Amino acid sequence: MKPSSEDCWICQSLKKDRHLVFYETKTSTAKLNPDQYFLGYSFVVFRKHEVELYDISDEERKEFLEDMSNVARALALAFKPDKMNYELLGNGQPHMHWHLVPRYRSDPLWGRPIWTSGTKRKRLGQEAYADLVNRIQKHLQ
Ligand SMILES: [Zn+2]
Repeated sequence: MKPSSEDCWICQSLKKDRHLVFYETKTSTAKLNPDQYFLGYSFVVFRKHEVELYDISDEERKEFLEDMSNVARALALAFKPDKMNYELLGNGQPHMHWHLVPRYRSDPLWGRPIWTSGTKRKRLGQEAYADLVNRIQKHLQ
């Protein structure tokens, strides 16, 4: 059984840290991960509290995948990573959200998933987040 949205921190997070949001459609909200260890690391969150891809309508699934692809392309154009990682896990909080992780040959975990060892969190100042948001939005029309 899926938890109610009142207990879901992803539902709550859609309302806060609005300065990290760079794209919204009727289906998805895309925002920067406050941790920018991997430059451009972003989430594409399904706006409704849903847990599994197979539980939503064909139309919503198509929109969610399309939104995620559009955001991935914009991240690629903005940051020129060597590879994009796409992950839909939901183990920590079962509410569908894509992790889009631009990967660079220079990153110490290159060639491996990002979860295989701990990385130091890299927080930025407000201006630096705003700059990243601008860089991404240039590629989202
Ligand atoms: Zn939720």
